[in-house]
Amino acid sequence: MLTFDQKLDNLASLALRVGVNLQSGQRLHLIGPIEGAELVRRIVAKAYDMGAPYVQVQYVDDHVGLIRAQRSAEEHLDGYPEGYRDFVLGMAERGDAYLRVGGEDPDLMSAADPARVARMVRAQRGVMRPVSDLVQRSHMPWTIVDYAVPAWARKMFPDLSEADAVAKLWDAIFSATRADVEAPIEAWEAHIEQLGRARDALNAHAFTALRLRAPGTDLRVGLADTHTWESGGQHAEVNGAFFVANMPTEEVFTAPHAGRVSGTVRATKPLSYQGQLIDGFSLTFEDGAVVDFSAERGEAALQGLLDTDEGARRLGEVALVPHSSPISQSGLLFYNTLFDENAACHLALGRAYETTMRDGTKRPLADLEADGFNQSLTHVDFMFGSEALDIDGETADGGTMPVMRGGEWAF
Ligand code: ZN
Ligand code: ZN
Repeated sequence: MLTFDQKLDNLASLALRVGVNLQSGQRLHLIGPIEGAELVRRIVAKAYDMGAPYVQVQYVDDHVGLIRAQRSAEEHLDGYPEGYRDFVLGMAERGDAYLRVGGEDPDLMSAADPARVARMVRAQRGVMRPVSDLVQRSHMPWTIVDYAVPAWARKMFPDLSEADAVAKLWDAIFSATRADVEAPIEAWEAHIEQLGRARDALNAHAFTALRLRAPGTDLRVGLADTHTWESGGQHAEVNGAFFVANMPTEEVFTAPHAGRVSGTVRATKPLSYQGQLIDGFSLTFEDGAVVDFSAERGEAALQGLLDTDEGARRLGEVALVPHSSPISQSGLLFYNTLFDENAACHLALGRAYETTMRDGTKRPLADLEADGFNQSLTHVDFMFGSEALDIDGETADGGTMPVMRGGEWAF
């Protein structure tokens, strides 16, 4: 049994060694919540031990965003500082590793007007677009790990004391990130290899579309021409290093065709989007675009997301996660996309990843778009997986074969 201290230390090491795969001589850009200083400082110490010439640390406080959403004059919500973008872009272009420590109150922003939040988010995404472009194409290695911030833990375990809730959330984070085992790096290597087998099987079948069926869901997701299935990690354009962008990660994913999605999908978990909870929602697609939607909670936030731009109404990712995945088996609802998306099959509204297209980082965007690659300022995952989900794959010759039955791999 490892102590809390050892597990937190493992998480810091994993984020650097497996997550961004930091190389000696490479700078690190590290963003984390003010509540997470304990982990941020450990990562800084290890990064210097590993030969980082400089670690640029930036602390964030989500309450500052809430205050802006509530107090700022209306006309100022459409702005975002270009100087900040240039600062971050400089680091990204140079190839500094980018490590984000997440963890937030899942519905903090519910105290603000969703239309005002949507304006803020749209402006930020627009100004930061050159940075997110580099992230989506794996220009530099990047990763996200989460910190058990108390407001998040309280939301997950409302009946427990704050201390007990935080301890329980830490247990879940350590378990999902394999920070609680004696040899975590080796455990990750084995895990990445296993995910690679599912990815290879899907690529070998070369499906042209997936048909998803579950209660409330009957959706045909055409896959982009020249799509390729990805899992676990990828190689950074700037230094070729193999990095793992999400810790945890349990998914095998690819790019849907932006114009070939039709039918209805019902979400199986609430979505925390920009600090606003969206729950009990369904989306109906025609020719790739959302033409109708409803939500029991957070409909205005969902509207704001869909109105980000034209591409926000189309899909940029379909990801398969077996229902027996360890995070799903924990039975916990995290209200946090990094965890919930790795517990269930999911789709993403918005931009696709170049890495899910054959030679995607080498081809011009117009070429990718001609194959069905979706473009947008946003990329937001939502979950549709459950033990009641069946998926069939369609092949170019018109055949079909089972891909998942009852939420589990069928091959
Ligand atoms: Zn995903
Ligand atoms: Zn995604």
